[in-house]
Amino acid sequence: MIVVMKKGATPEQIQHMIRRIEEFGLKAHPIFGTERTVIAAIGEKRDDMRQSLESGPGVAEVVPILAPYKVASREVKAEPTVVRAGSLSVGNCYLGVIAGPCSIENEEQTIATARAIKAAGATALRGGAFKPRTSPYSFQGLKERGLEILAAAREETGLAVVTEVLSETDVTLVARYADVLQIGARNMQNYRLLEKVGETDKPVLLKRGPSATLEELLLAAEYILNAGNKQVMLCERGIRTFETHTRFTLPLATVPWLHERTHLPVVVDPSHGTGHTPLVARMAAAAVASGADGLIVEVHPDPEHALSDGYQSLNFTQFEEMMTLCRKVADAVGKLLP
Ligand code: PEP
Ligand code: MN
Repeated sequence: MIVVMKKGATPEQIQHMIRRIEEFGLKAHPIFGTERTVIAAIGEKRDDMRQSLESGPGVAEVVPILAPYKVASREVKAEPTVVRAGSLSVGNCYLGVIAGPCSIENEEQTIATARAIKAAGATALRGGAFKPRTSPYSFQGLKERGLEILAAAREETGLAVVTEVLSETDVTLVARYADVLQIGARNMQNYRLLEKVGETDKPVLLKRGPSATLEELLLAAEYILNAGNKQVMLCERGIRTFETHTRFTLPLATVPWLHERTHLPVVVDPSHGTGHTPLVARMAAAAVASGADGLIVEVHPDPEHALSDGYQSLNFTQFEEMMTLCRKVADAVGKLLP
């Protein structure tokens, strides 16, 4: 249910309604809008609750939330959410560009990449320290050493750092170094992990599972939101289809579809979405045209020798060219790309 407060409801009345909702055993998620405050009441409903809440002081009306995802839905919050982490702003008019290597390999590679992407206009640095690899015999990442290198690159360039957390047991460690916690495609439905990152104060980039529906993606986001963390970005990174010309199929209708249903910003990953360097820049531009609020792109100083995903990584020149193209599209669709 959504408890819609009257315009000009006092802070005391809002606090009172939060207490009333909690007395019913529901969780209260207040959303302070420019016009008025609404409080999403989430949990198991009883028949008498609606009438009782509706008679509270300062309440305009109580309406049911129809979407299966609640806190993520536009019904609860009409204004788009802007997720902020240091140099990175994603959402509404802000287009965030997160770039960097698939894996953190060493300090030299990471710092060189951070400098190059910053010069080209990226607003955050990505890089995996804990890598989810299909084979246990592939490079698994530098783990905590990788996190230290990311922190050094942030120190050097001022770029916010986005990195994946693979397991519940690593959340505290990764959150100590990262500005944004990335939940990888393979972990989209690891619900205990989602709750654990939901308990942190770090923004989360939640990637769509390759076989997950968009409703499942929104319900996964709901786990994070319901645990108290409202800074969630959704990420389309391509899905499994019968098609083999690309590594995954990158459905860009995801972006406007999600924008209609959720206030959360939508990021697109054209690197994993295509799996081929020559396709990345055009699909990044197409993502911006579709209304994406952010891009996450793999960039490596020497893709041929990358320890992971070199075949889909851009070198520095290719990234610069991608940014030039995306800037023109961003301009045309009214997005700010710094
Ligand atoms: C990555 O970003 O390097 C990654 C492993 O992505 P995904 O979880 O989308 O496969
Ligand atoms: Mn990768």
